[in-house]
Amino acid sequence: MKRDPIQDMSILIVDDSKANTTLLKAILNNEGFTCIDNSVNGENTIKKLEETKVDLILISSVLSHESGITLCSVISSDLRYEDIPILIVTADSKMQTLRKSFENGAIDYISKPINSVELIARVQAHLIRKQIMDERKTSAITDVLTKLYNRRYFDTVFDRQYNKALLEDKYLTFFMIDIDNFKKYNDNYGHQKGDEVLSSVSETMKSQLRRNGDYIFRLGGEEFSILLLDIPDNYCLKLSDAIHSAIYDLNIEHKLNENYGRISISIGVSKVKVNKSISKFDIYNSADSALYEAKKTGRAKSVFTKLG
Ligand code: GH3
Ligand code: MG
Ligand code: MG
Repeated sequence: MKRDPIQDMSILIVDDSKANTTLLKAILNNEGFTCIDNSVNGENTIKKLEETKVDLILISSVLSHESGITLCSVISSDLRYEDIPILIVTADSKMQTLRKSFENGAIDYISKPINSVELIARVQAHLIRKQIMDERKTSAITDVLTKLYNRRYFDTVFDRQYNKALLEDKYLTFFMIDIDNFKKYNDNYGHQKGDEVLSSVSETMKSQLRRNGDYIFRLGGEEFSILLLDIPDNYCLKLSDAIHSAIYDLNIEHKLNENYGRISISIGVSKVKVNKSISKFDIYNSADSALYEAKKTGRAKSVFTKLG
């Protein structure tokens, strides 16, 4: 029988009773869910959330040293986890407890003793909803042609990474990337071929990113950007070289790209020690000026600059 994709979504059980966890796991396993993890307290739970992707959480209302409902509140009020449905597992079906659970961010509850039909029905319903919401969210931030993040998401992430760099006293590196003589490519080979170039150049650049948390966006047209937070020395030089060489290896003929004969890109890189007197606008502009310099001095290269 074909597996339902929701069976591959991940469920985290938060309970310090081994017997309860084993029972919940057994029921879920029996229904084909394979991605089930468990944790025993708040600290352990937060660590798991930071390290893995979780699609649904089942929290026991009472843990030995803390309240499951309080933990629910901590998780649901964290922007990173606000989309994860939390179900409270409780033996206490008093209206007050249920009300408190919902007030603290739970989306539903499972009553004890556990009824397997009820558990599965509720878990499935919330996972289906989560899957739809995830798809909608992904399509809202993804560029249709290149599958890279779009301009809209760039604005969000740039804002977030800028603030993070400011708060944590870190470097922010901004790559502004532009395909060379792309108008001539379209004129010579046609718009459809141009679209294909945009897709393969995008995929190639993306595949060069090595760290979780490195972002690449299509800003519009044939312009892209990469945002890197706190990169080790040499990383941006290496990344720039890797991207140019991977685009070279694509070997896409472009006769009107003078001196190269194949598709190439130019990059302006700005490495910034963020402080309050440097705005996002300044960062954007410095990468853009570096890009302009790269174009002016021959294309198919990177120009590096520093701010702060
Ligand atoms: P430069 O090396 O100075 O960047 O020159 P250029 O020709 O690449 O720059 P210009 O800004 O003059 O032209 C950009 C071209 O990108 C114009 C437009 O036809 C093309 N373009 C923008 N968006 C798309 C798209 O979605 N698909 C295709 N096929 N072409 C696009
Ligand atoms: Mg351009
Ligand atoms: Mg261009």
